Amino acid sequence: MKKLGFGTMRLPLFNSDDPTSIDIEQTKRMVDLFLDRGFTYFDTAYPYHGEKSEEAVKEALVKRYPRESFVLADKMPILRVKKTEDYQMFFDEQIRRCGVDYFDYYLLHNLGRDRYINTEKFGGFPFIEKLKKDGFARNIGFSYHDNAETLDKILTEHPEVDFVQLQINYLDWESQVAQSGACYEVAKKHGKKVMVMEPVKGGTLAKLPDKAMKLFNDYYEKQNFPVPTPASLAVRYAASLDNVKIVLSGMSNIEQLDNNTSYMQNFKPFSEGEKKLVKDITDVLNSTIKVPCTACKYCLEECPKNINIPDYFGLLNLYAVTGKTTGMYYERFSMNHGKASECLKCGKCENICPQHISIRRFLDDFVDLYEKK
Ligand code: SF4
Ligand code: SF4
Repeated sequence: MKKLGFGTMRLPLFNSDDPTSIDIEQTKRMVDLFLDRGFTYFDTAYPYHGEKSEEAVKEALVKRYPRESFVLADKMPILRVKKTEDYQMFFDEQIRRCGVDYFDYYLLHNLGRDRYINTEKFGGFPFIEKLKKDGFARNIGFSYHDNAETLDKILTEHPEVDFVQLQINYLDWESQVAQSGACYEVAKKHGKKVMVMEPVKGGTLAKLPDKAMKLFNDYYEKQNFPVPTPASLAVRYAASLDNVKIVLSGMSNIEQLDNNTSYMQNFKPFSEGEKKLVKDITDVLNSTIKVPCTACKYCLEECPKNINIPDYFGLLNLYAVTGKTTGMYYERFSMNHGKASECLKCGKCENICPQHISIRRFLDDFVDLYEKK
């Protein structure tokens, strides 16, 4: 199996303010090109696109291709599970939404220390183990956002899982918060294959600040092949790790898909020079990025004031790099959302944030920057 997976959490939209307004015809063209170039892995989840991603997968992929010609991964929304019976209810719904009889890869979605306690309480692991035994899931695992120590504990207590899905990118590799590198080593120690999510860190590694871009351009201009894109560097970094089976990329248009599949078709692993390059770029980024937000939007689901946290944090990071505020963007980003100053300080967003960001504190910084001028 080729190492690039099609993440269906950032599909093309007709209206950027409406995550359910998926452009199915463009999605179909993307699916066609992806399969045509020999890639097979698709990843969806219950909440993506306001719960419309699974149905989009059905329309663009499942209805149009033989089942054995693609590999499909889906995830149990463990956060919404409030009692044991909910597992079966959600799974039945997912099978129906996707229009399939089984999943090739089935995951408990977004496990971490606190969510592990509830998952154990309601029998999440026995449930997916039974799915595998009964032929409804060919491989079972979980996606994970927490520290390496808890991952070690879960994998020790649940050796039955086949794989784990981890956030791995070069910026987070040595980060104390995300612990990409340490988590990767734990998975490897337990003999589990790794699926990678957020290789481009929610787009952060696709648009490098000027100083990092200069390092990037200087390096490739001295090589004998065309200058790649910063995003391709990030995806290849993750794909070059020997225990990695798939690197997911949430592709939003046919151009991105064309680009990703072009360099991953005949995959070229990282060179020693590129390892040094990403280390230098990481040093530059660490000195500029303020909020380690990946724009996963989990916090948005929880916020009673519907505050557009990821986009506001994107503006904070932009300010950290450029020193400029952009009121026009704030107006747009807050159009159908609460303003940062409307935050109730309830903390619900911080309980779910996989990056453990002090959201309330950074929203205060944002208010100082954008609302107290
Ligand atoms: S603390 Fe503020 S931003 Fe976070 S969920 Fe509560 S109201 Fe929303
Ligand atoms: S603040 Fe946290 S939960 Fe919200 S989008 Fe960013 S990384 Fe995701």
